[in-house]
Amino acid sequence: MGNPDFELVEHDVQEPFDIDVDEIYNLACPASPVHYQYDAVDTIRTCILGTTNGLDLAVAKKAKFLQASTSEVYGDPLVHPQLEAYWGNVNPVGIRSCYDEGKRCAETLCMDYHRQTGVEVKIIRILNTYGPRMLPNDGRVVSNMIVQALRGENLTVFGDGSQTRSFQYIDDLVEGMLRMMATEDGFSGPVNIGNPSEFTISELAQLVLELSGSESRIIFKELPADDPKRRKPDIGLAPQ
Ligand code: UDP
Repeated sequence: MGNPDFELVEHDVQEPFDIDVDEIYNLACPASPVHYQYDAVDTIRTCILGTTNGLDLAVAKKAKFLQASTSEVYGDPLVHPQLEAYWGNVNPVGIRSCYDEGKRCAETLCMDYHRQTGVEVKIIRILNTYGPRMLPNDGRVVSNMIVQALRGENLTVFGDGSQTRSFQYIDDLVEGMLRMMATEDGFSGPVNIGNPSEFTISELAQLVLELSGSESRIIFKELPADDPKRRKPDIGLAPQ
Protein backbone atom coordinates (compact mmCIF):
# COMPACT_ATOMS: atom_id res chain seq x y z
CA MET A 1 0.00 0.00 0.00
CA GLY A 2 2.97 2.31 0.62
CA ASN A 3 4.25 1.96 -2.96
CA PRO A 4 3.68 5.31 -4.76
CA ASP A 5 3.12 3.42 -8.05
CA PHE A 6 0.23 1.46 -6.55
CA GLU A 7 -3.34 2.71 -6.47
CA LEU A 8 -6.24 0.82 -4.94
CA VAL A 9 -9.70 1.66 -6.26
CA GLU A 10 -12.69 0.06 -4.57
CA HIS A 11 -15.30 -0.57 -7.25
CA ASP A 12 -17.94 -3.16 -8.12
CA VAL A 13 -16.98 -4.63 -11.51
CA GLN A 14 -20.66 -5.13 -12.25
CA GLU A 15 -20.72 -1.36 -12.90
CA PRO A 16 -18.76 0.20 -15.81
CA PHE A 17 -15.47 1.83 -14.91
CA ASP A 18 -12.93 4.13 -16.52
CA ILE A 19 -9.23 4.21 -15.69
CA ASP A 20 -6.03 4.40 -17.77
CA VAL A 21 -4.59 0.92 -18.25
CA ASP A 22 -2.29 -1.06 -20.56
CA GLU A 23 -3.13 -4.52 -19.21
CA ILE A 24 -6.14 -5.88 -17.35
CA TYR A 25 -6.07 -9.09 -15.27
CA ASN A 26 -9.69 -10.03 -14.65
CA LEU A 27 -9.57 -12.09 -11.45
CA ALA A 28 -12.93 -10.88 -10.13
CA CYS A 29 -15.08 -13.71 -8.74
CA PRO A 30 -15.01 -15.91 -5.64
CA ALA A 31 -13.43 -19.27 -6.57
CA SER A 32 -14.21 -21.49 -3.57
CA PRO A 33 -17.46 -23.48 -4.01
CA VAL A 34 -18.66 -22.44 -0.52
CA HIS A 35 -18.16 -18.76 -1.34
CA TYR A 36 -19.37 -18.68 -4.94
CA GLN A 37 -22.54 -20.60 -3.97
CA TYR A 38 -23.27 -18.21 -1.07
CA ASP A 39 -24.72 -15.61 -3.48
CA ALA A 40 -24.97 -17.45 -6.78
CA VAL A 41 -26.71 -14.59 -8.61
CA ASP A 42 -23.95 -12.20 -7.61
CA THR A 43 -21.36 -14.74 -8.80
CA ILE A 44 -22.74 -15.09 -12.30
CA ARG A 45 -23.34 -11.33 -12.58
CA THR A 46 -19.72 -10.74 -11.57
CA CYS A 47 -18.54 -13.14 -14.30
CA ILE A 48 -20.71 -11.76 -17.08
CA LEU A 49 -21.15 -8.06 -16.30
CA GLY A 50 -17.62 -7.77 -14.86
CA THR A 51 -16.06 -9.34 -17.94
CA THR A 52 -18.18 -7.18 -20.26
CA ASN A 53 -17.16 -4.00 -18.43
CA GLY A 54 -13.51 -5.07 -18.40
CA LEU A 55 -13.57 -5.82 -22.14
CA ASP A 56 -15.26 -2.47 -22.89
CA LEU A 57 -12.44 -0.78 -20.96
CA ALA A 58 -9.81 -2.83 -22.85
CA VAL A 59 -11.34 -1.77 -26.18
CA ALA A 60 -11.50 1.91 -25.15
CA LYS A 61 -7.87 1.96 -23.92
CA LYS A 62 -6.44 -0.51 -26.47
CA ALA A 63 -5.33 -2.59 -23.48
CA LYS A 64 -4.64 -6.33 -23.29
CA PHE A 65 -7.19 -8.36 -21.32
CA LEU A 66 -6.32 -11.54 -19.41
CA GLN A 67 -9.29 -13.62 -18.29
CA ALA A 68 -8.86 -15.87 -15.26
CA SER A 69 -10.98 -18.81 -16.32
CA THR A 70 -11.06 -22.20 -14.69
CA SER A 71 -10.90 -25.94 -15.16
CA GLU A 72 -14.54 -25.81 -14.02
CA VAL A 73 -15.40 -25.06 -17.67
CA TYR A 74 -14.79 -28.82 -18.15
CA GLY A 75 -17.51 -29.60 -15.54
CA ASP A 76 -17.46 -33.28 -14.53
CA PRO A 77 -15.21 -34.24 -17.45
CA LEU A 78 -15.76 -37.27 -19.64
CA VAL A 79 -12.20 -37.16 -20.97
CA HIS A 80 -9.08 -37.46 -18.87
CA PRO A 81 -6.73 -35.63 -18.60
CA GLN A 82 -8.39 -32.43 -19.77
CA LEU A 83 -6.92 -30.88 -22.89
CA GLU A 84 -7.94 -27.31 -23.74
CA ALA A 85 -9.72 -28.54 -26.89
CA TYR A 86 -12.22 -30.51 -24.74
CA TRP A 87 -15.60 -28.70 -24.60
CA GLY A 88 -16.63 -30.00 -21.21
CA ASN A 89 -19.56 -31.66 -19.48
CA VAL A 90 -21.30 -28.96 -17.44
CA ASN A 91 -24.66 -29.05 -15.69
CA PRO A 92 -26.31 -25.73 -16.67
CA VAL A 93 -28.86 -25.78 -13.82
CA GLY A 94 -26.90 -27.15 -10.82
CA ILE A 95 -25.44 -25.53 -7.72
CA ARG A 96 -22.02 -25.10 -9.40
CA SER A 97 -23.50 -23.59 -12.58
CA CYS A 98 -23.29 -19.96 -11.46
CA TYR A 99 -19.50 -20.34 -11.51
CA ASP A 100 -19.03 -22.90 -14.31
CA GLU A 101 -21.42 -21.27 -16.76
CA GLY A 102 -20.42 -17.77 -15.66
CA LYS A 103 -16.80 -18.54 -16.50
CA ARG A 104 -17.77 -20.28 -19.76
CA CYS A 105 -19.79 -17.23 -20.82
CA ALA A 106 -16.87 -14.97 -19.85
CA GLU A 107 -14.63 -16.98 -22.22
CA THR A 108 -17.24 -16.55 -24.96
CA LEU A 109 -17.35 -12.79 -24.35
CA CYS A 110 -13.55 -12.60 -24.62
CA MET A 111 -13.49 -14.40 -27.95
CA ASP A 112 -16.47 -12.50 -29.40
CA TYR A 113 -14.97 -9.14 -28.40
CA HIS A 114 -11.67 -10.28 -29.91
CA ARG A 115 -13.29 -11.27 -33.21
CA GLN A 116 -15.52 -8.19 -33.40
CA THR A 117 -13.16 -5.46 -32.18
CA GLY A 118 -9.65 -6.95 -32.49
CA VAL A 119 -8.99 -6.41 -28.76
CA GLU A 120 -6.15 -8.62 -27.45
CA VAL A 121 -7.51 -11.28 -25.09
CA LYS A 122 -5.66 -14.03 -23.21
CA ILE A 123 -7.60 -16.85 -21.56
CA ILE A 124 -6.08 -19.04 -18.87
CA ARG A 125 -7.85 -21.96 -17.23
CA ILE A 126 -6.69 -22.19 -13.64
CA LEU A 127 -6.65 -25.51 -11.80
CA ASN A 128 -6.80 -25.99 -8.02
CA THR A 129 -4.31 -23.62 -6.39
CA TYR A 130 -3.01 -23.32 -2.83
CA GLY A 131 -0.48 -21.20 -0.99
CA PRO A 132 0.19 -18.81 1.86
CA ARG A 133 -2.44 -16.35 3.09
CA MET A 134 -5.47 -18.44 2.19
CA LEU A 135 -8.20 -17.65 4.70
CA PRO A 136 -8.86 -20.31 7.36
CA ASN A 137 -12.51 -20.27 6.20
CA ASP A 138 -11.63 -20.41 2.48
CA GLY A 139 -13.49 -23.72 2.27
CA ARG A 140 -11.28 -25.45 -0.29
CA VAL A 141 -9.79 -28.78 0.48
CA VAL A 142 -6.09 -28.00 1.06
CA SER A 143 -6.66 -25.16 3.53
CA ASN A 144 -9.64 -26.92 5.15
CA MET A 145 -7.58 -30.03 5.94
CA ILE A 146 -4.51 -28.16 7.15
CA VAL A 147 -6.62 -25.96 9.44
CA GLN A 148 -8.51 -29.02 10.74
CA ALA A 149 -5.24 -30.89 11.43
CA LEU A 150 -3.69 -27.93 13.25
CA ARG A 151 -6.81 -27.47 15.39
CA GLY A 152 -7.03 -31.19 16.20
CA GLU A 153 -10.42 -31.42 14.48
CA ASN A 154 -11.56 -34.30 12.25
CA LEU A 155 -10.44 -34.03 8.62
CA THR A 156 -13.55 -33.95 6.42
CA VAL A 157 -13.39 -36.06 3.25
CA PHE A 158 -16.44 -35.56 1.06
CA GLY A 159 -17.72 -38.74 -0.60
CA ASP A 160 -15.43 -41.78 -0.49
CA GLY A 161 -12.31 -39.71 -1.14
CA SER A 162 -11.54 -41.40 -4.46
CA GLN A 163 -12.13 -38.20 -6.48
CA THR A 164 -8.93 -36.59 -7.73
CA ARG A 165 -7.52 -33.10 -8.06
CA SER A 166 -4.17 -31.65 -9.17
CA PHE A 167 -2.80 -28.93 -6.90
CA GLN A 168 -0.52 -26.11 -8.01
CA TYR A 169 1.42 -23.66 -5.89
CA ILE A 170 0.35 -20.02 -6.13
CA ASP A 171 3.78 -18.72 -7.30
CA ASP A 172 3.65 -21.04 -10.32
CA LEU A 173 0.20 -19.74 -11.22
CA VAL A 174 1.35 -16.11 -10.96
CA GLU A 175 4.33 -16.88 -13.19
CA GLY A 176 1.98 -18.55 -15.67
CA MET A 177 -0.28 -15.47 -15.72
CA LEU A 178 2.63 -13.13 -16.41
CA ARG A 179 3.96 -15.41 -19.14
CA MET A 180 0.53 -15.63 -20.75
CA MET A 181 0.13 -11.85 -20.76
CA ALA A 182 3.56 -11.62 -22.47
CA THR A 183 2.65 -13.98 -25.35
CA GLU A 184 2.59 -12.59 -28.87
CA ASP A 185 -0.39 -10.59 -30.15
CA GLY A 186 -3.10 -12.76 -31.64
CA PHE A 187 -2.51 -15.66 -29.23
CA SER A 188 -5.58 -16.00 -27.01
CA GLY A 189 -5.33 -19.59 -25.72
CA PRO A 190 -7.14 -20.94 -23.81
CA VAL A 191 -4.24 -22.37 -21.81
CA ASN A 192 -4.54 -24.67 -18.79
CA ILE A 193 -2.35 -23.59 -15.88
CA GLY A 194 -1.95 -26.32 -13.30
CA ASN A 195 0.13 -29.17 -11.99
CA PRO A 196 -0.34 -32.44 -13.88
CA SER A 197 0.34 -34.66 -10.83
CA GLU A 198 -2.96 -36.08 -9.62
CA PHE A 199 -3.98 -37.00 -6.04
CA THR A 200 -7.06 -38.60 -4.59
CA ILE A 201 -8.62 -36.55 -1.79
CA SER A 202 -7.94 -39.49 0.60
CA GLU A 203 -4.23 -39.35 -0.31
CA LEU A 204 -4.24 -35.62 0.40
CA ALA A 205 -5.83 -36.20 3.84
CA GLN A 206 -3.17 -38.83 4.68
CA LEU A 207 -0.38 -36.49 3.58
CA VAL A 208 -1.73 -33.65 5.73
CA LEU A 209 -1.86 -35.98 8.77
CA GLU A 210 1.70 -37.22 8.16
CA LEU A 211 3.24 -33.78 7.62
CA SER A 212 1.42 -32.09 10.50
CA GLY A 213 1.88 -34.98 12.95
CA SER A 214 -1.73 -34.35 13.96
CA GLU A 215 -3.75 -36.89 15.97
CA SER A 216 -6.87 -35.93 14.00
CA ARG A 217 -9.04 -38.61 12.41
CA ILE A 218 -10.49 -38.71 8.93
CA ILE A 219 -14.28 -38.63 8.70
CA PHE A 220 -16.44 -38.97 5.59
CA LYS A 221 -19.25 -36.59 4.68
CA GLU A 222 -21.75 -36.49 1.83
CA LEU A 223 -20.31 -35.57 -1.56
CA PRO A 224 -21.74 -32.21 -2.76
CA ALA A 225 -23.84 -32.24 -5.97
CA ASP A 226 -21.98 -32.17 -9.30
CA ASP A 227 -18.59 -32.56 -7.60
CA PRO A 228 -16.18 -33.48 -10.45
CA LYS A 229 -14.80 -37.03 -10.21
CA ARG A 230 -11.40 -36.46 -11.78
CA ARG A 231 -9.44 -33.34 -12.50
CA LYS A 232 -6.00 -33.21 -14.13
CA PRO A 233 -4.76 -30.84 -16.83
CA ASP A 234 -3.33 -32.01 -20.10
CA ILE A 235 -0.65 -29.41 -20.78
CA GLY A 236 -1.25 -28.72 -24.46
CA LEU A 237 -2.70 -26.03 -26.70
CA ALA A 238 -6.17 -25.75 -28.17
CA PRO A 239 -6.67 -25.04 -31.86
CA GLN A 240 -7.50 -21.35 -32.41
N1 UDP B 1 -13.39 -31.63 -0.31
C1 UDP B 1 -13.29 -32.49 0.78
N2 UDP B 1 -13.24 -31.93 2.04
C2 UDP B 1 -13.27 -30.58 2.24
C3 UDP B 1 -13.38 -29.72 1.12
C4 UDP B 1 -13.43 -30.28 -0.14
O1 UDP B 1 -13.23 -33.73 0.63
O2 UDP B 1 -13.22 -30.16 3.42
C5 UDP B 1 -13.39 -32.24 -1.66
C6 UDP B 1 -14.46 -31.71 -2.60
O3 UDP B 1 -15.67 -32.43 -2.47
C7 UDP B 1 -13.79 -31.92 -3.96
C8 UDP B 1 -12.31 -31.72 -3.67
O4 UDP B 1 -12.15 -31.92 -2.26
O5 UDP B 1 -13.99 -33.24 -4.41
C9 UDP B 1 -11.80 -30.33 -4.05
O6 UDP B 1 -12.69 -29.39 -3.50
P1 UDP B 1 -12.40 -27.83 -3.50
O7 UDP B 1 -13.59 -27.17 -2.85
O8 UDP B 1 -11.06 -27.56 -2.92
O9 UDP B 1 -12.31 -27.43 -5.04
P2 UDP B 1 -13.12 -27.86 -6.37
O10 UDP B 1 -12.10 -28.58 -7.18
O11 UDP B 1 -14.27 -28.75 -6.01
O12 UDP B 1 -13.58 -26.57 -6.96
